[in-house]
Amino acid sequence: MSIESYLKAGKIASQVREDARRKYHVGSTLLEVCEAAEAQIRSMEAQPAFPVNASLNEIAAHYTAEPGDETLVKEGDVLKIDIGVHVDGYIADTAVTVCYDPRHDQMVKAAEAALAEAVRIARTGTKASDIGKVIETIIGRMGYRPIQNLSGHSLQQYTIHAGKSIPNIWTIGSSFSLQTGEAYAIEPFATTKDGSGVVHEGKVKNIFGITSRKPSKDKDADELLTVIWNRYRSLPFALRWLTNAYEEPRLRRLIDVLVKKKNVHSYPILVEGREKTVVQAEHTLIPADGGSTIITF
Ligand code: MN
Ligand code: MN
Repeated sequence: MSIESYLKAGKIASQVREDARRKYHVGSTLLEVCEAAEAQIRSMEAQPAFPVNASLNEIAAHYTAEPGDETLVKEGDVLKIDIGVHVDGYIADTAVTVCYDPRHDQMVKAAEAALAEAVRIARTGTKASDIGKVIETIIGRMGYRPIQNLSGHSLQQYTIHAGKSIPNIWTIGSSFSLQTGEAYAIEPFATTKDGSGVVHEGKVKNIFGITSRKPSKDKDADELLTVIWNRYRSLPFALRWLTNAYEEPRLRRLIDVLVKKKNVHSYPILVEGREKTVVQAEHTLIPADGGSTIITF
């Protein structure tokens, strides 16, 4: 792995996240939120590792702006902005929650406190289950519930979810230990005490990724598949990233073909089980003995 690429991706991701934290987003559209962050990434000689996620309120994750998305951020909203940056495929994954409802300020602090403690104990040999335990303990102590079926993950070059999960709750049974030479994202999600603490898949799907390059036998769809592969490999993409090359109705038709033929996977939004507000915080780190390099600090 390339430490230099990870450090560069991390530095850019952190800068984009902090700018997003400081900005006043009320009155902006989700399209503006996503595109501003993505433009900033591209202006710094890096690429988005996935479409910026801008998930409102009870939507925990996996919403990105549609082409022309006019959804407005309003006073009273809680917005998770999740940012991925890659340099030569080495990915930094980080998130911030901007909160325009003072009732949820403390819950944002709970997710951030849980993340701070998790990254403090994370080093070579730390058990993933111990990270889950501190996250659950801190969020619970502050009066909230962790989302139990969302988790952090190992990362590999051009792969965001590389197979290992870092839980947000204490889990029984076998657990792996963090390894030197591997990168991990840790991402506590929390909801209110009256939430279910579980997310389910919603109907909306606006993030996509190639899962197979086997020809679909539809000439136009295969041509689009090649365009996507050349630009994004198997990393996630959004329709609005392709509307410069394809008119939207045709693009949607061809993507439908590729989804049906299982060349492309579509990721549904993830919604809190009782539609309660969800907050998130996230960092990416590379463990070492005695401590980790938090590349997105
Ligand atoms: Mn993320
Ligand atoms: Mn992540």
